[in-house]
Amino acid sequence: MIVLVIGGGWSGIAAAMGLAAGGCEVVVVEERPYLGGRARSFIDRESGDEIDNGQHVMMGCYHDVLRMVRELGTEHLLERQRALRVAFVDTAGRHDVLDASRLPGRAGVAAGLLGLRGIGFRSRLAGLRLALRISRGTATGKGLTCADFLRHHDQPHDIVTRFWEPIVLATLNAPLEQASADLLIEVMRLAFLGTTEDSQLLIPTAGLSALLAPFNEWIGGKGGSVQISTSIDNLLIRNGVVESALLSNGTELPVDAVVSTIPLRALERLLRASGYGESAPPPSDMSPIVSVYLWYKRQWMPYDFAAALGTTVQWVFDKRRIRPGLVALTVSAGYGIVTERSDDIISMCDRDLRAMFPELSGIELHRGVVIKEKMATPLLSPQADALRVGCKTTIARNLFFAGDWTQTRLPATLEGAARSGFNAADAVLRLGRGSRHTHQ
Ligand SMILES: Cc1cc2nc3c(=O)[nH]c(=O)nc-3n(C[C@H](O)[C@H](O)[C@H](O)COP(=O)(O)OP(=O)(O)OC[C@H]3O[C@@H](n4cnc5c(N)ncnc54)[C@H](O)[C@@H]3O)c2cc1C
Repeated sequence: MIVLVIGGGWSGIAAAMGLAAGGCEVVVVEERPYLGGRARSFIDRESGDEIDNGQHVMMGCYHDVLRMVRELGTEHLLERQRALRVAFVDTAGRHDVLDASRLPGRAGVAAGLLGLRGIGFRSRLAGLRLALRISRGTATGKGLTCADFLRHHDQPHDIVTRFWEPIVLATLNAPLEQASADLLIEVMRLAFLGTTEDSQLLIPTAGLSALLAPFNEWIGGKGGSVQISTSIDNLLIRNGVVESALLSNGTELPVDAVVSTIPLRALERLLRASGYGESAPPPSDMSPIVSVYLWYKRQWMPYDFAAALGTTVQWVFDKRRIRPGLVALTVSAGYGIVTERSDDIISMCDRDLRAMFPELSGIELHRGVVIKEKMATPLLSPQADALRVGCKTTIARNLFFAGDWTQTRLPATLEGAARSGFNAADAVLRLGRGSRHTHQ
């Protein structure tokens, strides 16, 4: 069975791995000159350092991502925390650490939350009560935004701004007023209220592209192939079946099934070109992420990473493994700064860091790079989340969708992408088994 996978991001690679493991002959076609899509690394020309298109963090509950990196032999490039441990730093230089290492599983996270001294005691108790309700399944988010959900559960201002908001921004890439509460609940259940392993943070120690580097060889060993710098421009669909695909290099590829893993807007274009524009899934707004790399003259960062409170910068990561003094900053849902000039963003980030970290005093900033991903992830409001479609399509019975935007019940993340890819691969394999039975 020849299966075309359109797109070589994490969802496409997961789909290809699931399909190849199931015995299919897989052809992955990616329009850019590299794999990895929105999670990739590249060499910064001036420093020669390998940096990502934006810092990515994974968690122990990323079971499908871990399945991929284990199979590709790159799991050792993810540094796993012993237990969830997150530092919070504000502009008054106050440091607070959520340390879940004292007890196992959700009890550890609960103890860590109670230990946050920057949040009033009553607020911590309110947070704990809500976490408990989420864990027991008695707090439901049906149709609410995170802001309404937190108000409904009487969460005081300090725990909202110093705990819930950093989690929502980091995991849902959306402001509290827009993010879907159902997704926050799922993140809390899977990541923070599960086992100790599930709540551990995993931080890549190499460039993101290194995680997927063995894929070409892996798929080749299973009889598959990858074509980069080539796009799929048209699908030839007859009687509810995709028969072949037209590649930008002019070739026509006959297929038994197709998994499209491309983002919604690209999919809409492809379906329009194929005569099925009206059947495209509903469009969704996109949310930006602004990432900033700052090269300081020497090493100073006191934590591996920290959440920044009350600043435009939201997270700071120490990149000393790449170069001492290098830090990566992220601003999720960065609508306010995505249109600003890069020089202004660099100065603002430098000011934010100096307000938070006295360690920076007297250390010169050598250089900065700003990466603006304007379409980083779909903005999953309650309405947009409800409109997400699954992997099956009404367009053709052998055409399936995957990608972080499809309905996985997860936020638009690497794990959502990986899960969607494996789901689509399973659906293709079921189709293959079904048609074999019909032919017997
Ligand atoms: C800056 C940033 C930070 C992030 N941080 C995190 C994080 O910390 N943790 C986390 O879990 N997630 C994070 N994410 C989200 C995560 O990167 C994405 O959810 C995930 O990479 C999406 O993968 P995908 O395969 O669904 O889509 P994509 O990566 O977009 O892959 C789709 C591929 O299809 C290709 N394509 C498009 N059209 C065609 C065509 N016609 N023919 C052939 N190929 C085509 C594209 O070039 C692309 O490579 C972040 C994203 C960004 C941008």
